[in-house]
Amino acid sequence: MKTNKNHTSIDPFTHEIDSIPKAAYQRIVIVGGGFAGLRLARELKGTDYQVVMLDKNNYHQFQPLFYQVATSGLEPSAISFPIRKVFKKHDNLFFRMMELLEVDTAGKRVITDKGFLTYDHLVLAMGGDTAYFGMKNVQKICYAHEDRFRGTFFYGIS
Ligand SMILES: Cc1cc2nc3c(=O)[nH]c(=O)nc-3n(C[C@H](O)[C@H](O)[C@H](O)COP(=O)(O)OP(=O)(O)OC[C@H]3O[C@@H](n4cnc5c(N)ncnc54)[C@H](O)[C@@H]3O)c2cc1C
Repeated sequence: MKTNKNHTSIDPFTHEIDSIPKAAYQRIVIVGGGFAGLRLARELKGTDYQVVMLDKNNYHQFQPLFYQVATSGLEPSAISFPIRKVFKKHDNLFFRMMELLEVDTAGKRVITDKGFLTYDHLVLAMGGDTAYFGMKNVQKICYAHEDRFRGTFFYGIS
């Protein structure tokens, strides 16, 4: 059993997300609203697919400018924008903020912190992770800045 961010208990394996209309079209689920996910979603607008993008955040982050945020050159809000902004004029594109927990390939379902969603096609575009090259001490004491909040932390102390 998983407790989601709204503090309600749901079983993500049995609770189907029903806020997305059933369509006659095939459903493509894209996990990750980064460079790759957004590019694909833009390519698919107006096509005969129902495109559902999931991201654990409701905003896109322009990572190449993290350094400027970390060194107080830019406000965090200058390098991020709501993912829904990209989607709002397109009937076949949907965005939902949720975190992918697991993929049930046999059942063609993504299991998220808000419940499960079925797909016809699945694209995992969740980016990468920080490489520490096996240096556990470095991992313990340093801050990765692959997300805006960590960038904001630096912004706050610099
Ligand atoms: C500081 C910095 C500087 C960089 N500078 C450059 C540069 O100058 N030029 C260049 O070409 N590249 C640069 N890069 C690299 C570039 O930003 C990445 O290659 C690019 O963002 C990768 O795109 P992506 O779509 O694969 O992943 P990302 O852009 O990382 O997007 C992944 C998305 O997936 C979401 N996500 C992750 N896990 C989950 C989950 N479990 N459930 C739901 N959502 C999830 C995240 O919230 C995120 O929105 C830089 C990166 C950094 C960190």
